[in-house]
Amino acid sequence: MADGVAQVDRAVREVAAAWREQRAERQARRHLERDDFDALRDAGLLGMAVPVASGGAWEGPRSARPLCELYRHLAGADPSVALVSVMHPAVIGFWLFGPGGDAEAWVAQREAIFAGALAGEQWGTITSEPGSGGDVTKTKSVARPLSAEPFLPGGVFGVSGDKHFGSGSGICHRMVTTAVAEGDAEPAMFVLDTDGRPWDGTAGLELLAEWDGAGMAATQSHAMRLADAPAVRMAWDGSIQDVVLAAGPLISTLFTAVVLGVVDEAVGLARGQLAAKADQLRAYEQVEWTRAEADHWLAVQAYEGALRSVETGAPTALHDAVRAKQLGAELAESVLLRLTRVLGGGTYSQRSPYSRWFEDVRALGFLRPPWGLAYDSMFLTSFG
Ligand SMILES: Cc1cc2nc3c(=O)[nH]c(=O)nc-3n(C[C@H](O)[C@H](O)[C@H](O)COP(=O)(O)OP(=O)(O)OC[C@H]3O[C@@H](n4cnc5c(N)ncnc54)[C@H](O)[C@@H]3O)c2cc1C
Repeated sequence: MADGVAQVDRAVREVAAAWREQRAERQARRHLERDDFDALRDAGLLGMAVPVASGGAWEGPRSARPLCELYRHLAGADPSVALVSVMHPAVIGFWLFGPGGDAEAWVAQREAIFAGALAGEQWGTITSEPGSGGDVTKTKSVARPLSAEPFLPGGVFGVSGDKHFGSGSGICHRMVTTAVAEGDAEPAMFVLDTDGRPWDGTAGLELLAEWDGAGMAATQSHAMRLADAPAVRMAWDGSIQDVVLAAGPLISTLFTAVVLGVVDEAVGLARGQLAAKADQLRAYEQVEWTRAEADHWLAVQAYEGALRSVETGAPTALHDAVRAKQLGAELAESVLLRLTRVLGGGTYSQRSPYSRWFEDVRALGFLRPPWGLAYDSMFLTSFG
């Protein structure tokens, strides 16, 4: 691990250790705290997905491992903050892996994005649209040119449409979205300037519904109406499908890492609680514990397989990463279910960490690509 990465790793683990001590209070939260994101920024986390040549810690695909491992660790301390936080490298990944090459406009935009991230800008995404099934190419949003000063190099547009699941709303300075620009046949990617923007409809954003998720409860994944919301278009004229596919393996593996971190934590805590009375467990409880452990192990193997494919740039990376994500989602749900059966009815209480974790891990299957789209993708990539 390079020095810079090791330093960030140490600092983030220190932050996570303090958060673990506050588990009960954190699990009951339904909102985000700016201080948490300031602490992660100060630890250097925002620069992990910025290339070394631009002043960050990203050395290419092999940096995927320390990045994913850090989010895995963080998720054990606070799943909601980890999920919001992981959106940052996930969407910056569009420019890390993007196919823009040496084109002047692309390079200028990339460098501005990287510089902003190093200066403390938190990135996220509010791309999902009701009825799209998580498929970004099905956007009904529209974009029209605006004459305004760009906040990033690129063309300025006003984006209009209804979006939901904007994790990190109110915390993120920049949020990626999709829309079809006037005169275009295909959708494009845009970056919204969400820094301090009000949600009352006076400046392009109107809060439609506050996030009330049963799990990942504090992620502020609100639904918003965009009306000429100021945005800069991605400096790439090709299909956004190419951009999404290029970054897809890293994105899916980052999401898997977050939920795996929750499972690691749940299994670790349960092991500690059960160790003293292991010899008193009934046969059924012994089987359920053993199967929980086995499913956890399988989830780790799937994640490791995906990570290896991402690190080595394997041609099957997308297929592997989506498989690890969906199988990991099924296994994570199974582990939490079995743990609660062994540990007893008290785990059904909202005061029990397991009841919260049970709902938190269910998020993985719905994250992009969600179940239906993920299985489409797995089937298609199965034949190359
Ligand atoms: C905790 C959490 C955090 C998230 N954070 C983010 C985020 O930060 N940013 C973000 O952009 N998204 C985020 N998402 C959303 C996620 O990426 C998916 O887009 C979302 O879960 C898709 O929801 P859905 O499948 O219910 O789709 P919906 O579009 O609501 O579709 C409902 C149902 O209709 C079906 N359907 C819809 N359209 C069609 C169609 N044209 N043809 C056939 N069937 C169709 C779908 O398969 C689905 O079963 C988050 C989700 C969760 C659970």
